[in-house]
Amino acid sequence: MKRPDKDRPSTWKPYKQGMCEGCAGSCCTMPVEVKLSDLIRLGLTDEDEAQGSIKKLAKRLMKEGIITSYRSGTEFFMLTQKSNNDCLFLDLKTRLCTVYEKRPDTCRQFPSIGPRPGFCPVTPKS
Ligand code: SF4
Repeated sequence: MKRPDKDRPSTWKPYKQGMCEGCAGSCCTMPVEVKLSDLIRLGLTDEDEAQGSIKKLAKRLMKEGIITSYRSGTEFFMLTQKSNNDCLFLDLKTRLCTVYEKRPDTCRQFPSIGPRPGFCPVTPKS
């Protein structure tokens, strides 16, 4: 079977229940935008800091390597990806999310939202 390419949504497979088991976590190698509420749930900031300057918060998170950018227009923070494109929170060996219970809304909603809603870049673990 031809492997879907995460950078080419036309190659993705229709999502089916159970598909994530055995997948290497391709969706966790794509850029993830998060909101302030996600950062609070993840424990990366708190209500107090969130009520202050968001630009200052973004600067701190960038310095700590947690985000790469903040867009004030959309209020989205871009999570940092490792050099192999893995999400900061993806375990290299198990290919599982290390913050699953607290994961961002974007991750919870995938693949209902994303480059090709309803489809996945599913890739078997090697
Ligand atoms: S936060 Fe977890 S579910 Fe979301 S992209 Fe990162 S590893 Fe995947």
